Amino acid sequence: MTTPVYLDNHATTKVDPRVLAAMLPWFGEEYGNASSRQHAFGWRAEAAVELARGRVARLIGAESREVIFTSGATESINLAIKGIVQAGTSRGNHVVTSAVEHPAVLDTCRALERQGVEVTVLPVDRHGRVAPEDVTRAITPRTVLVSIMTANNEVGTLEPVAAIGSLCAERGVPFHSDAAQAVGRVPVDVRTMNVTALSFSAHKMYGPKGVGALYLRSTRPPVPLVPQMDGGGHERGLRSGTLNVPGIVGFGEAASIALAEQQGEADRIRGLRDRLEAGLAAALPDITVNGDPSGRLPHNASITFVGARADRIMMEMKDVAVSAGSACGSADAGPSHVLKALGLAPAAAASTLRFGLGRFTTEEEIDYTIRRVVETVAAIRARMPKLEPA
Ligand SMILES: *Cc1c(COP(=O)(O)O)cnc(C)c1O
Repeated sequence: MTTPVYLDNHATTKVDPRVLAAMLPWFGEEYGNASSRQHAFGWRAEAAVELARGRVARLIGAESREVIFTSGATESINLAIKGIVQAGTSRGNHVVTSAVEHPAVLDTCRALERQGVEVTVLPVDRHGRVAPEDVTRAITPRTVLVSIMTANNEVGTLEPVAAIGSLCAERGVPFHSDAAQAVGRVPVDVRTMNVTALSFSAHKMYGPKGVGALYLRSTRPPVPLVPQMDGGGHERGLRSGTLNVPGIVGFGEAASIALAEQQGEADRIRGLRDRLEAGLAAALPDITVNGDPSGRLPHNASITFVGARADRIMMEMKDVAVSAGSACGSADAGPSHVLKALGLAPAAAASTLRFGLGRFTTEEEIDYTIRRVVETVAAIRARMPKLEPA
């Protein structure tokens, strides 16, 4: 075992060696532009892209033509939300989302708000779950989009997306879901979800950074979507720009591996996660596990350690890579908006660590982590000034 132990698989995952091997030729001799229609370099690149598109589509139960390649989930989310809202201005200008969304969704909605779009941000229960009835109540005749995530990136809660999808479909309101944490980790099927658009990313599922996809349901007439990038008309005019062929090939390989191994892998990782939570609970009083006990990501453990601040724990435990509740690349060091939405007090939110397990996590690493967290938290708590009895 080597340290630091990597337990931050919500932030990103290691590229699977099989994915790396599949990508390498496309950085070398196979350098064609997938849009070059006049020669073999282009034809081979295009064939590789289309093979990958089929693999990515299969993972989410979609058809190839419903997959648009982008630079990642952030871009897919921007394209879906801005694109659908801008295309719907004749019908209305109201968007419904939730308080626990990733900044890629919340900041995109805020940007639209500055342009006059009305945004309803739904609250969640103490487990981080959106109530489908709240979505029903929030929808008005002027609602042009509902965007609710598939799985939360801080506390792992699985949202009731299938129920939300069907209630949106009944009302003819497009439904987008940010599935960056779910695809490749838990079964995701765009048909049972009844989703109009779905955003996800290769680097969250053992693929490369800088490549993602937007699923856009194929309907007649097509879902109206205003492109956010003008140019050569790639990806059926919806996302111009030369395709990232090596990245897309890697994404396809990652999708194939996920489809074949997802179930067994999720069971193994859930076992390790449960071992981690049980080990910590057995040795430390006053800890609570966040997220929905009835449905959360198998690789997530969000734990509040009363009386020990997360930044302190991380500072004294540099040999284990975890994150505090809020770790979405934003510079703001304030308490996590997700933990706040769950109703955690500021002190509890500031004492919460997020553990993200993954394909390469071992039992030895989990046992080491239990030992290190227990000794670090116990030491910090022992140094706390004792409160005088009242
Ligand atoms: C990582 C993540 C994103 C952003 O994905 P990128 O591909 O890094 O842009 C969006 N939403 C959620 C829930 C995420 O976990």
